[in-house]
Amino acid sequence: MLILDKTNLIPYLIERMPETDFSHIESIIEIGDGSQSAEEDGDGYVNFIFIVKTPDTSLVIKQSREASRMSGGQMTLTRNHLEYDAMKLFYTIAPDYVPKVYFIDDENKVFVMEDASESGRKISRFQLNQNRIFQKLGEQCGIYLADTEFYTSEYYLSTDDFRRLTCRFMNEEMRPIMENGLFLTKFDTDYEPALGDEFYQFAKSISEDPKYLAERHKLRHYYMTHAECLIHADLHTSNLFTSEDSMKVIDMEFTFCGPFSYDVGYLYGNLLSQYTAACYRDFSSEKERLEFKAYILSTIVDLYHSYTTRFISNWNQDAKEIYRNVPGLQEEFKKNVLLDASGYASIVNWFRVAGNIAYPDFDMITDLNKKRDAMALSLLIDWQIMFHRYEYTDIQDLIDDVLFVERNYSSDNWKEHASSCSKK
Ligand code: ADP
Ligand code: MG
Repeated sequence: MLILDKTNLIPYLIERMPETDFSHIESIIEIGDGSQSAEEDGDGYVNFIFIVKTPDTSLVIKQSREASRMSGGQMTLTRNHLEYDAMKLFYTIAPDYVPKVYFIDDENKVFVMEDASESGRKISRFQLNQNRIFQKLGEQCGIYLADTEFYTSEYYLSTDDFRRLTCRFMNEEMRPIMENGLFLTKFDTDYEPALGDEFYQFAKSISEDPKYLAERHKLRHYYMTHAECLIHADLHTSNLFTSEDSMKVIDMEFTFCGPFSYDVGYLYGNLLSQYTAACYRDFSSEKERLEFKAYILSTIVDLYHSYTTRFISNWNQDAKEIYRNVPGLQEEFKKNVLLDASGYASIVNWFRVAGNIAYPDFDMITDLNKKRDAMALSLLIDWQIMFHRYEYTDIQDLIDDVLFVERNYSSDNWKEHASSCSKK
């Protein structure tokens, strides 16, 4: 395998992209080389990524090596071609929202794609952390998800094609990372010690509560077995590049055929962490804080409406004959999204709190008491929505639950919960 570096990269590209002009190189960046801010580098820890800019174009080169970039852990190399295939397919379905891929080199586990940061797009997590508002984000994510999910589902594809798709993207080597790490072991980490023993007991009391555990297993089983469409499976806000007008999704190596509601719920979970962090981090005024918090909640609502409306419009237009005019089927779809996405949101938000993994949304809160409050509030919201979701009839019910928990939250009531648990 040729190990790409800044010195051999351009000859490598010239050989493989003869139609591109590489005579003038404006810059070559390697993610993690210190030439960009941590925010520009983003949250990728696994692969080796270069960005080459010429006056005409900007290319992103992604190389997978056996050892993960940051942890050094061994990971399957098949992920490289799988991600390329996923991006190519998703680009065909939703070209506005996915970087175009240019070529794949199986020998060296490299593929090259369009730079998602062109046209002023930036990684949305860090923009949101600076209180920037992207009014169209919920709607754009909903359209992206509805299109990529409907057109890779069996509502649309022939049964044979759908089964072939399921096999191609079985992704059996990458899937356990999420199936086990996210739903069960939190990537084998413990709670952040600086948060103190009381918080530790409280977080454990939620993680280990038998009722919560049963819901986790129920959702995990559903996640593992309901192959409904091709999902992204790691749709967090660092994998979304956004500007005022446009949005692109990156990092598709976890893609497989999973449940419709999963990516929506995963994104809700990230937005919930963003929300609870915004309750406690610094803002220049309380008015700005309120506006930002309202924006995050309205993004969750927009996402749900955009996703379900677009999905059903695709269905009415393009579903196979047997799925047309089946009474109640579309209502059932919407009901399931409401129920399951809220459950996945609880798991995703819980997983970000109940582990010791770096998480910029909370880590930027420098006051430890405030950070603990943001995380404790998160866990209480996770608890509430996990069990209450069975009664939801509208996305507003999820929002009302978030607001209800926030209203009733004080720095003491999670401590009460912790001390009652420690007496059990
Ligand atoms: P990993 O697979 O290691 O998680 P990612 O795909 O998340 O890697 O990419 C890591 C970082 O590389 C991103 O946060 C971003 O900064 C940059 N990057 C990756 N793909 C692109 C792209 N298509 N356009 C712009 N930047 C990208
Ligand atoms: Mg990544």
